[in-house]
Amino acid sequence: MKKLLCVCAVLAAGASCAKTSPESRVINDAADALGGRQKVMAVKTLVIEGEGPAPNVGQNTMPDGELPVWKVTEYKRTIDLANHRMRTTQVRTAQFLFANANTQNQDQGLDGDVAYNVGGNGAVTRGPAAAARDRRIDLLQHPLVIVREVLDDPSTKLSGYRKNGNQEIVEIETSKGEKLTLAFDSGSKLPSRVTSMTDNANMGDVAIDTAFSQYDSVGGLQLPRRITTTIDKYPQFDLTVSKNTVDGEAGNIAAPDPVKAAPAPAPPPQVVTAEPVAKGIWWLAGSGNHRSIVFEFDDHLVLYEAPLNETRSKAVIDKARSLSSKPLTHVIISHHHFDHSGGLRVAVAEGLTVITYRDNIPFFQDLLSRKHTIVPDELEKAPKPAKFEAVDDQMTLKDKSMEVQLYHLKDNPREGTNLFAYIPRDRILVQADLYDSTWQFHHWGANVITNIEAIRKLKVDKQVPVHGGIQAYAEMVKTMRANP
Ligand SMILES: [Zn+2]
Repeated sequence: MKKLLCVCAVLAAGASCAKTSPESRVINDAADALGGRQKVMAVKTLVIEGEGPAPNVGQNTMPDGELPVWKVTEYKRTIDLANHRMRTTQVRTAQFLFANANTQNQDQGLDGDVAYNVGGNGAVTRGPAAAARDRRIDLLQHPLVIVREVLDDPSTKLSGYRKNGNQEIVEIETSKGEKLTLAFDSGSKLPSRVTSMTDNANMGDVAIDTAFSQYDSVGGLQLPRRITTTIDKYPQFDLTVSKNTVDGEAGNIAAPDPVKAAPAPAPPPQVVTAEPVAKGIWWLAGSGNHRSIVFEFDDHLVLYEAPLNETRSKAVIDKARSLSSKPLTHVIISHHHFDHSGGLRVAVAEGLTVITYRDNIPFFQDLLSRKHTIVPDELEKAPKPAKFEAVDDQMTLKDKSMEVQLYHLKDNPREGTNLFAYIPRDRILVQADLYDSTWQFHHWGANVITNIEAIRKLKVDKQVPVHGGIQAYAEMVKTMRANP
């Protein structure tokens, strides 16, 4: 009973002990553990500085291999708690072979429901609504912010109290409808992790989970020195905090008025163009830098690449079907990287047989089996079994109208599961990620030339790519050799 009275003392005046739900109790205990309700409510700003690795999900050499990593330095997140604002600046350096500038500066903000981005020249632009939603969740994934939000906003709904080992767990729904699961350590009473579900184009319903540890006292408040975020089963960012500053110099992190007044940019319309490159071969370009290629056989069409997501790939499939009265029956998925396999599920939903390197198949089966209930895609709405044709070292698709030879790219440092195509009649190379005319560096150019000329002994005149422009092969080799 004594303990209960204690809990009551931190509740708002008028609250009665009989009404203290277990959910409210853990929140109040957490506020106490963080430094006391008054202190938590009085904080104006928090500045978090540190560094750590940020792995790049969906870009590993093999589907189950280690993720390539960005090393994040000069990380600084400024949070204005009362005004629901956040600004994050960081420098990230690729710890893997990267085709463009190795070091990038990022500067992104959130002001209420307005996401904004700050360019290298200082120009501020408004970000899309989806960015604002993601950043809000990111902002809430900090113990001080989420506990403060619950204490501050009486319309926050708490439910689902349960125990799991030494964790006490509560479901939270904010007044904006954001749903988060907050876990607390039963011993210290401090928040140990926050989880929220979101949609990922490839993986569907995924948990974004942030764990807090190494709590340390800063001016009477307990704040974590380690903040570790995962998406699904993949590590996303492991921040080691070098400094937490409470109510220090925070600067102005409000979005400029013209940015707030500007509408959130809508996603651009999906445009697919079809450029004939040889008899029975079309290059599907248009929006963005992920292209697909269509091959016309005697009685069917085959697509090379279903990229990015359902929107892009469905538009590409529809375009391919408009080119001929022959049915589109197969899709070749060049490799497993997420930007190249984002159309896998819609391709299966559209009844296409998937041709890919054999080691992609277990990974693709997993992607196909996942739930997409948050943003239901075509396959979620009408499930269909997948049909695969596995390519080992090579495969030839051939009839009287067309011959397409598929080859596994061997011994490449970035691409373990990559299939490129060769059309002997036209001496055309079709490829994804072997080369992009817009890349700054061609770290694996020598490996690509070895694969084409020494291993496969192909005579190429022209390359027709997924990324970049169509070029003469001689131009591609010259560019790769000039900027290794
Ligand atoms: Zn790519």
